[in-house]
Amino acid sequence: MEIREQLKDKKRVVIKIGSSSLTHVMTGEVDYQKMEQLTRVLCDLRGMGKDVILVSSGAIAVGKMAMHMKTRPTTTSEKQALAAIGQARLMMTYQRLFAEYSQVAAQILMTKNTVKNNLNRFNARNTFEELLNMGAIPIVNENDTVATYEIEFGDNDHLSAYVAALTNADLLILLSDIDGMYTDDPSRNPDASLIPIVWELTEQYKNMGKSTSKSELGTGGMTAKLDAAKIAVEAGIDMVIANGSNVRNILDIIDGKEVGTLFVAHRKKNFDLLNYIE
Ligand code: ADP
Repeated sequence: MEIREQLKDKKRVVIKIGSSSLTHVMTGEVDYQKMEQLTRVLCDLRGMGKDVILVSSGAIAVGKMAMHMKTRPTTTSEKQALAAIGQARLMMTYQRLFAEYSQVAAQILMTKNTVKNNLNRFNARNTFEELLNMGAIPIVNENDTVATYEIEFGDNDHLSAYVAALTNADLLILLSDIDGMYTDDPSRNPDASLIPIVWELTEQYKNMGKSTSKSELGTGGMTAKLDAAKIAVEAGIDMVIANGSNVRNILDIIDGKEVGTLFVAHRKKNFDLLNYIE
C-alpha cells in the first residue's frame, strides 16, 4: 500500500500546535477562529473513531492578553507567570469549544521529569489511557510553573514526541507556521524546497533544520522538530510536519493526501524513551 494511504488507518493521533499557529501574526494575540476551527477538526477525528491528544501551546499569549501587556515578556519568570494566568484561560476556552461539539477536554500538565521518573511516568500513562478509554480529549502542555525547558528550547515539540511515545500513538502531527521541512530555512534561503517524505533521518537532514526562528512566540525552529522526529520514528510512530494556518490539513493528512513532510517510522529494537531525554 502507498505509504500515505496507510495514514488513513492510524487510530491514535497526537497533534501539536505551536503558539505561532494559534496567534495573529501582527499582534501575537490569540486567534479564536483558529482555535474554533482546530476544535471542530479534532471533534471530527473523534467522530471517525480516533483517539485524539492535543498538545497545545498558547498559554503565554493568552496570559499576555489577560494582563493587557503590549510588550513581549522577556524574563523566564515573567513568561512562567503569564503561562500560569493564560493556561487556565486557554483551557476554559478549549472546554467551552469542545463542549459545543459534545466532546470533553481534559488538562494534562507535565514536564520531561514526568517522563523520567518511573512512578510519574506510570501514573501519566495510566491517566492518558483512562481518558482515551472514556473518550475524552487530553490537552497537554508543559507545566511551565515548575519547568522551563519547552519555554526556552522547544515550544512543546519535544513534549509532543514524549507524549506520542508514552501513549503508543500511531501518528504525530506537528502543526507549524511553515508547510513542512525544507532543504534549508526558507526565510533565509529562497532556493530551499519542501521535502515531502523522509524515509530515513540521516545526518544530511539534521543539517538542513535550523533552530533560528522568525516567530516571536515560537521557540523551536526546525531543530526541535527534528529532535521530535527522531524520537517518534524510533518509537515506531509516523510523524508529519504541516502548516497550521489551515487546520484542515489534519484531515487531509489522515485522508492520505500529500501534505507537509512525512517522517516514516522505523521502530528501533528495544526502544526506550528514557534514552532520548537528557
Ligand atoms: P512553530 O512553533 O509554529 O512550529 P517554529 O518557529 O518553532 O514554529 O518553527 C518553524 C520555523 O523553523 C520556520 O518558520 C522556519 O523559519 C524555521 N526553519 C529552520 N530551518 C528550517 C527548514 N529546514 N525547513 C523549514 N523551516 C525551517
